[in-house]
Amino acid sequence: MDLRDLYQEVILDHNKRPRNYGTIEGASRADGHNPLCGDRVSVSVRLQDGKVQDARFTGTGCAISKASASLMTEAVTGLTEAEAMALFARFQDAVTGKVEADDEVLGKLTVLAGVRDYPSRVKCATLAWHALQAALAGAAKPVSTE
Ligand code: ZN
Repeated sequence: MDLRDLYQEVILDHNKRPRNYGTIEGASRADGHNPLCGDRVSVSVRLQDGKVQDARFTGTGCAISKASASLMTEAVTGLTEAEAMALFARFQDAVTGKVEADDEVLGKLTVLAGVRDYPSRVKCATLAWHALQAALAGAAKPVSTE
C-alpha cells in the first residue's frame, strides 16, 4: 500500500464515520455552500478561555468535503482562534500547492493535500474551514465559496 492509498483510506473512513458530527446547542454557527460540487456544511464552535473547546459539523456533499470537515473539527479542538486560522492558512496553501504539505504542521490534514492535483476539489476541502472562520467570527450569515 503506498502513501496515496493510505490517504485515500483516511478520507474514506472520515467520510463514512465522520467525527464530531452534530450541532452544539447555543454555540456560534455558520453555514457554507460550495455550488460547484453541491457540498453543504454547517459548523458550530464553542470557545472557552480563548480556545476551541468543541467543534462540530453537519453536512451533505462529497467525500472530500465531509472528510475535511471531520478532520478539521479534530484538528482545531484545543487551539486558540488565531492558531486555528493560522492552521487554515497553512492548509489552504498546501491544498492549492503553494507550499509542500508538512506533516508536522498539518498532522492528519496532510491526507487532503492530494487535492492540489484537482483544482476543482480545492473548494470541497476548504469549505468547512471557511464556515469555521465565519463561526469563529460570530457571523450569522452563510458563507459561499463563490
Ligand atoms: Zn465536493
